[in-house]
Amino acid sequence: MKKYTVVSVSEFWSRKKLKLKVEKVLNDAVNDGFEIIKKIKIISIFLSGVLLGCISCFQNRNFDFVIENVKLFDGNNVFEHANVYVKDGLIAQIDTFKTKIDGKYNYLISGHNKTIIPGLINAHTHPQSRRDLNDAARAGILTVFDLLRIDEDSIPVFKVLGEKANYANYYTAGIGADMPNAVIKHYIQKTNPWAPLTKKGVELFIADRIKSKVDFIKIYQDSRLPEKFSDSIFDKLISEAHKEKLMAVVHSELLKDACYEFKHGADIIAHAWFDSLITNNELKKWEQRNFYIIPTLLVHVSIKKQLNPKSYTLTEEQMINEIGRLYKAGITIVAGSDSPADNLNFTTDFYKELELYARAGMTTIDVLKSATINPSKAFKIKDKGIIKEGLSADFVLINGDLLNDMKKIYEIESVWKKGTRIK
Ligand SMILES: [Zn+2]
Repeated sequence: MKKYTVVSVSEFWSRKKLKLKVEKVLNDAVNDGFEIIKKIKIISIFLSGVLLGCISCFQNRNFDFVIENVKLFDGNNVFEHANVYVKDGLIAQIDTFKTKIDGKYNYLISGHNKTIIPGLINAHTHPQSRRDLNDAARAGILTVFDLLRIDEDSIPVFKVLGEKANYANYYTAGIGADMPNAVIKHYIQKTNPWAPLTKKGVELFIADRIKSKVDFIKIYQDSRLPEKFSDSIFDKLISEAHKEKLMAVVHSELLKDACYEFKHGADIIAHAWFDSLITNNELKKWEQRNFYIIPTLLVHVSIKKQLNPKSYTLTEEQMINEIGRLYKAGITIVAGSDSPADNLNFTTDFYKELELYARAGMTTIDVLKSATINPSKAFKIKDKGIIKEGLSADFVLINGDLLNDMKKIYEIESVWKKGTRIK
């Protein structure tokens, strides 16, 4: 006897919406219950308890489901056929051997001719509003890294939003470390007041970022601009970040600055370069330790096309090939778009960035890793960009075989966060 209902994704969702309405009515009733508490404490506490119990019944029992017979990329590996069991908003079980799913579930969604992948991660963004986090989430980008947030008072707001199903998870550097007359001044047109100028200043700078609850430290270095950090201050920034167990993410756009940052212990570089070709000798050095590159190729390519600035001496093809050379040398590529730089959006422009990595010669699985497991490793977060038993049910369901055709990324059927369909 069948104990579950076979449904399409949209049918499943319309049923769940109906239930959410019921939950809202119950929630309202609970709120009313709290009003009564003021007057008749004992009775209303009892009633509220009963109502809350009903709500948890709805949440726990009614919407456990299985996506059956789906092609699965879990962040590391590809499985041709898998059943993915979602219970209470978590991935309860992944079965890749076509055995039966243990446990009870109410809905069975066919994954035939579909691919399931983890929520994507855009490792270089600057969200300006809640809409950016919502747009990203609906495009399957369920985590974003914000590489400069001057207004640190807004960090808690973005973080609270990022916890919600409809918004991308949010990680930030807060204010970056930069000299007074350098990159930040170049972008915001006024002298940077947060520049750490002495070793003591560096300690205070990092302590302030910790107070603002940042997730990593951003350091700027651009030798085209009037000022850059001395070796001793740069080294102190890296060592102080590491002392506090924070990753040092560095900004540079020229190859010589990237080489400098590698040599001085940086963990992740926030852009590739557009001025010269890396030597094989340098590449050999980079292979020696974990060093991650966020190429932001799309923004480089599009600025080259529009403005052709003097320092952009590499051609579009050369910029793309550089990423291919890093990839072949075993350097880990971490996908990032730098949205909204150059008016790039928080949605499809990220897919375009990924397509450029494919053009650089990366295999589809490695392109997908660059937007899932690689950023998760680079930033040392364990529970994002991966589909794994026990983790939040955050994933993207795509029509067709994405592993055979990267273009299918534009054919997202549905996006799920915490087991809730958000698109
Ligand atoms: Zn940026």
